[in-house]
Amino acid sequence: MQKTEDLQEGGARRALVVSIHDVSPRTRSRTEDILADLESVGLPRTSLLVVPDHHHHGLVCEDAPFTEWLRAACSRGHEAVLHGYYHLRENKTSDGPLKRLVTRSYTAGEGEFYDLDKASARELLLRGRAAVEGCGVKVTGFIAPAWLLGGEAEEAVREAGFHYTTRIATVSDFVSNAVHRSRSQVWSVRAAWRRSCSLGWNALLFSRTRNVPLARIGIHPPDWEYPQIRKQILRLVVRALALRAPMTYADWLVRQRTEAC
Ligand SMILES: [Zn+2]
Repeated sequence: MQKTEDLQEGGARRALVVSIHDVSPRTRSRTEDILADLESVGLPRTSLLVVPDHHHHGLVCEDAPFTEWLRAACSRGHEAVLHGYYHLRENKTSDGPLKRLVTRSYTAGEGEFYDLDKASARELLLRGRAAVEGCGVKVTGFIAPAWLLGGEAEEAVREAGFHYTTRIATVSDFVSNAVHRSRSQVWSVRAAWRRSCSLGWNALLFSRTRNVPLARIGIHPPDWEYPQIRKQILRLVVRALALRAPMTYADWLVRQRTEAC
């Protein structure tokens, strides 16, 4: 009864975007498992954050099985989003203590677009988009590794014609210039204490965001190695789907722009 009332009173206008980070030939098999589990609980589409040359292991568009798989996923309604280029940040000798804390400890050295200058960012963005689109799919969004996008890099993203980017607490629409506040659920699984904090934090965050227009759930492939984390994510997806329509970031932004007219 509750579910019906919520949907009748505008609940169906609420949206859920589930994204899978770090999609590449290296993580394809795990990503397929994640998608199968999500589909089994009723979630048909996600935003797939594709890394063009993941840790220098080779370009996505040169891996035929990956290319075919990504194209098929997008034809079923998933979205391909550009996610960094190598998904690695070179350590710099000039890094001070704060920068070291953010780029090495918080992100395990993966904050690739955290402090890139505009020209370097532009080059990686253009090469990255060409590599992902070389798989035969359309790319309109860019999301930086660990959501760390510096000011110059963000300018490069806009100028390269991407329609949007997201950070951990916002979705920025470069077409309408709107910044939508929405905090993403995300799990940290690198250590036992991080996993137990993540379980508590995500349960709390989920209940606090029950009424927000857009709920976001971000999944990383290693999350699936831990049954408790996997179960919580699937349980939260099921609960969210009782009130929300599942969609990709691109779909949600198109809907927001139409409603704003
Ligand atoms: Zn990532």
